[in-house]
Amino acid sequence: MIDATHAADAACWVPGAEGHPDFPIQNLPFGLFSPPNEGPRPGVAIGDAIIELTALVAAGLAQQVPADLAVVLATQPLRQSLRRQMFQLLGDDRYRPAAEPYLHAAADCALHVPVRIGDYSDFYAGIHHAVAVGKLFRPDNPLLPNYKYVPIGYHGRASSIVASGADIVRPCGQLKALDAETPVFGPSQRLDFELELGVWIGPGNAMGQPIPIANAAQHIGGYCLLNDWSARDLQAWEYQPLGPFLAKNFATTISPWIVTPEALAPFRLAQAPRPDGDPAPLPYLWDETDQASGALKLDLTVAIQTEAMRAAGLAPHVLSRSEARHLYWTPAQLVAHHASNGCNLRPGDLLGTGTISGPEDGSQGSLLELSMGGKKPVSLPNGETRAFLQDQDTLILSARACAEGYASIGFGPCVGRILPAV
Ligand code: CA
Repeated sequence: MIDATHAADAACWVPGAEGHPDFPIQNLPFGLFSPPNEGPRPGVAIGDAIIELTALVAAGLAQQVPADLAVVLATQPLRQSLRRQMFQLLGDDRYRPAAEPYLHAAADCALHVPVRIGDYSDFYAGIHHAVAVGKLFRPDNPLLPNYKYVPIGYHGRASSIVASGADIVRPCGQLKALDAETPVFGPSQRLDFELELGVWIGPGNAMGQPIPIANAAQHIGGYCLLNDWSARDLQAWEYQPLGPFLAKNFATTISPWIVTPEALAPFRLAQAPRPDGDPAPLPYLWDETDQASGALKLDLTVAIQTEAMRAAGLAPHVLSRSEARHLYWTPAQLVAHHASNGCNLRPGDLLGTGTISGPEDGSQGSLLELSMGGKKPVSLPNGETRAFLQDQDTLILSARACAEGYASIGFGPCVGRILPAV
């Protein structure tokens, strides 16, 4: 899958695109954007700009792109063709005069959730997160017996998935203090983030027809960052016996650019071998090719900027650095498992991986872990502390793929700010 579009020395005439931390010409993610005072339309991110696909088509500079980007997600030849066309158009100076009028400054545009998400499911595949959270409740036996056999997940809520930049209103719900007899209703006092990857479903499967693990990677049309905002106090009271509900479904923020499997081809990794004593995955989750190259080499970062930091002109402070390789299951295993009972996945469905924490201090993907359940608030450089999120806090998730000999690419920001409860 590695070809000329991945060459580290590929040229690009768009000012500032060469060496751009997120969107050099080797990335070319697609998404849905609105220029100022105009409606949504498909585009491709390049440097600090967005090239407008429908306008390129009208000008005869690109082949027709379906208005519904779920079709692009679902059709690998279409994704590859779009990638090759944009690579040629943006890389060759001869096209500059014709194509440059269709570039928009990204900073002036609004970005949208790129497709109509039919269904969203969230997994729990970050084993260091599962262990750390389990320890808060069961110090001697943090992982439940199913964890190493079943890619644990639950069905989330698609309607409240928002694109980076949307404000998040602090949720209200039932809260029951440990020493209280009865719950009260009010604003969550333990609002948290979760650092996750999002997996966009491509073709999907017919109901009753599972996706074999050997084909599962072909059903992934792209990736994004995902912040699974979580109200820990609502969660603790409501989650038994059916699992997360209102603690999670009030908002989920995603990075709006769809980073394709094609762009990520140089950044594949072997799945980390399981520790001695762990069971092998059951055969329906085991594929040699997936094990050899099904993991992703992605550096992940979470930063916070409080209102006081913003007022003082202080840059966001990095709370956590983790890596996608810490996932216990590959994205293909999540897809195969989800469809293994015949559940139909559809183009544009979204899967969350689960919180991706690393094993060491400073790599935890949630405040629940960073503050040890709220007992040890995190210190910020300006003297503030955070056990959980305060109103006006801004959370910034980012991802970068780096590999020797290749241009690094990123996902663009996944940002949300907390507004007071209403
Ligand atoms: Ca989650």
